[in-house]
Amino acid sequence: MSTIDSLPPLREVIATHQLSARKSLGQNFLLDLNLTAKIARQAGDLADCDVLEIGPGPGGLTRGLLAEGARRVLAVEKDSRCIAALQQIQAAYPGRLQVIEGDALAIDPLAHLKPPIRIAANLPYNIGTELLVRWLTPPDWPPFWKSLTLMFQREVAERIVAQPGSKVYGRLAILAQWRCDARIVMSLPPEAFTPPPKISSAVVHLNALARPRYPANADSLSRVVAMAFNQRRKMLRSALKGIAPDIEDRLRAAGLKPTERAEQVSLEGFCALARILDS
Ligand code: SAM
Repeated sequence: MSTIDSLPPLREVIATHQLSARKSLGQNFLLDLNLTAKIARQAGDLADCDVLEIGPGPGGLTRGLLAEGARRVLAVEKDSRCIAALQQIQAAYPGRLQVIEGDALAIDPLAHLKPPIRIAANLPYNIGTELLVRWLTPPDWPPFWKSLTLMFQREVAERIVAQPGSKVYGRLAILAQWRCDARIVMSLPPEAFTPPPKISSAVVHLNALARPRYPANADSLSRVVAMAFNQRRKMLRSALKGIAPDIEDRLRAAGLKPTERAEQVSLEGFCALARILDS
């Protein structure tokens, strides 16, 4: 296997530091450095960016990001066993890698990063969606990050990029696509990981738009989308009847049919409805 830097191969790193994978930490490692460099390239031009990486583990993607020219990488890792392995990478890329040992859900990375900021990670699956939702719902837009390049279970990746009419179209698709361009840029079979997970994975790249694709208040949009999809088999007029007494008129004013189901309503339609409900 060819390598992208002068550091030892990842299998050796894992053996040296005894990093047997722990299921409780969602540890499925990527050991092919050509693959991690390929994922890093999907993150866009890194040269002028700080990159936040969650869960570097033994550092395969970290090395990819650094080899692809990231200005700086801030890596947040919960597993203390990985820190010594990451320190070897720090030594090979002086001044360009900062490692924080801790829980990504509890740490505020902003204090350590300078814009422009990109986020790239092979996420622990148990916290992937929670982190994504957090990054997609900052107090102000545009957010602190320019792009997200994230590994998910294939099924979650499909929910993020889903279009109306699809069975997996729902809250996550609306949330992601309202203020981002979102696409699946890579698909990975279980064998790409050590140990292999049961399911396939995919990398999703999300670019933050300067402003929302269609105007709407974030809380109003979130509320109406949640209600509509909570009862996705019902027609909008019954799924949303608790939101306004004159919901049928409001739906028509937003250009929607009261007999439609949430699954059929475009992002533009939901934004129009959120505005009408706020008027
Ligand atoms: N990036 C490495 C790779 O691609 O080989 C490892 C990816 S592995 C799927 C997920 C990593 O996230 C593990 O190293 C795990 O220890 C770490 N992790 C799990 N929960 C975490 C948390 N709450 N905060 C930070 N890191 C976490």
